Amino acid sequence: MKTVFEEIIDKLGTKKVSTNPIDLYPYSRDWSPMEHDKDYLPEAVCIPSTTKEVSIILEIAQKWKIPVVAWGGGTGMGGSNLAIRGGIVIATNSMSNIIEIDKDNMTVTVQAGATIQSINEALEPLGLWFPHDPESKPTSTIGAALMCDSNGTFGIKYGSMVNYVLNATVVIPGGEVIRVGQRKAATTSSGYKLLWLMISSEGTLGVMTELTLRIFPLPKKREIMLWVAPSINDATKALYAIQASGLCIESAHINDKHRLNYYTHTYREKTGKTADIPKGYNTLLALSVAGDDDVLEFSKRKISTVLCSNNCIPLENEDIVKGWWDSKHTLSWEKNKWSSSQKKEKFGSADVSVPVGRLQDMYDAFIKYTKAYDLPKVGTAIYNIGPHISPSISFAVFVDDHDKEKVANFFKYVEDMSKTAVLLGGTMSSYIGDGTRLRHLTPFEHGKSLKMMWKIKKLFDPDNILNPGKIFPENIEELSYEDLEKKGRHDER
Ligand SMILES: Cc1cc2nc3c(=O)[nH]c(=O)nc-3n(C[C@H](O)[C@H](O)[C@H](O)COP(=O)(O)OP(=O)(O)OC[C@H]3O[C@@H](n4cnc5c(N)ncnc54)[C@H](O)[C@@H]3O)c2cc1C
Repeated sequence: MKTVFEEIIDKLGTKKVSTNPIDLYPYSRDWSPMEHDKDYLPEAVCIPSTTKEVSIILEIAQKWKIPVVAWGGGTGMGGSNLAIRGGIVIATNSMSNIIEIDKDNMTVTVQAGATIQSINEALEPLGLWFPHDPESKPTSTIGAALMCDSNGTFGIKYGSMVNYVLNATVVIPGGEVIRVGQRKAATTSSGYKLLWLMISSEGTLGVMTELTLRIFPLPKKREIMLWVAPSINDATKALYAIQASGLCIESAHINDKHRLNYYTHTYREKTGKTADIPKGYNTLLALSVAGDDDVLEFSKRKISTVLCSNNCIPLENEDIVKGWWDSKHTLSWEKNKWSSSQKKEKFGSADVSVPVGRLQDMYDAFIKYTKAYDLPKVGTAIYNIGPHISPSISFAVFVDDHDKEKVANFFKYVEDMSKTAVLLGGTMSSYIGDGTRLRHLTPFEHGKSLKMMWKIKKLFDPDNILNPGKIFPENIEELSYEDLEKKGRHDER
């Protein structure tokens, strides 16, 4: 009798399926700070290039009830793509075609394994732009961006994945191919929003193979402005004042001074100094505007007037401004910042979100828990996702993954930060997802509604073969509505 892998090889050919450990290792870790010598080796990797091939894999996997995990660029930071129960990894990097650029309707249709950077490389010569801009864009894929609801630089103007995606092709266990979403119309009130259900489902409901996205005209020019404010609350108030003035900014980031220092490493290397900011001004407010020269000129003047009357001071040193922006947006992280930051110690993040009025409380928790667990600070970066000012936050630390105790401390830090965020009326994850690291805490955040999520999961995936061991705690089957109500903080206001 044939093995499950031989059955898949029969259909896909030997070039698209491997069980050789050398081919499996690249799929054994993501970017989260796991112990240095720990990895999760899948039993096989399949490299399909079409929806049909994904469907074949899921049909055979369902028959054998073997786990299947979709893998994008591997830049996830919460263990969400790890094959913790073995089985098959579907590597999506051979599904990276740009299928259609529809200029009349301002949409692009792509395969799910296309990197975000490659989408823009195809659009830019046509004067078009897909404005989702995570720092990991050279490697992170569009399918995963949806599956983790990732955030990007230009969120205040353009929003997050939910605002970009129009429809998607998804393969569910058993191999059925379904199309979710509203074709190319901007919105729909017909039927359930199954497309939205996919967002941040971390590959637990289906494997996405194609997506249609909204695109925009490529702005002609951009101006970056750095300002400093005394505190996070002052920076937030200043941001509201800009909104109240009617100005349209395209990005707004708030950093503490640790993160400012981290992002301006090119300035540090050039001058041997850290980015010097005036005493008493501990928070960076980084803004950008884009468009025609006259609009930029006006916007800069108006921003200056608004921010000066809101307790902010400009940081005008060009090396600092350029260094910060390069780090955030244009620098290749493979060659520069990230690779060196990953060599000695891993970058780990509590990616919580809280309501704007609780930002300072959450920042105080960051100071408290980094001290309690002795974790060096990378610092705080608040992405603001519009059109409301909705913070998505990276509270980042360095973790020496050669030291088991430090890794254990990191996970305790993430747990304490996550619980604090929920108690402050927020959420444990704003762009990484629950993955393996937070699944024991999902009852705390979601209470009874986790049971409904599990029922939905079982509807798509009755045998739990799709990315098992993520989002839901191990004992989810045994937990009743009552148990979850006791554990949850969901119904508190
Ligand atoms: C240096 C660095 C910078 C980063 N910067 C940002 C940032 O600015 N903003 C941000 O939001 N995040 C950022 N991240 C986090 C990370 O890049 C994002 O979470 C990203 O969306 C992961 O994409 P990926 O293609 O690498 O997916 P992976 O890590 O491979 O997978 C992530 C999840 O998506 C699922 N998945 C992947 N493809 C599919 C598919 N086709 N169908 C179904 N499920 C699928 C996987 O199973 C897994 O659950 C950063 C990470 C790093 C390492």
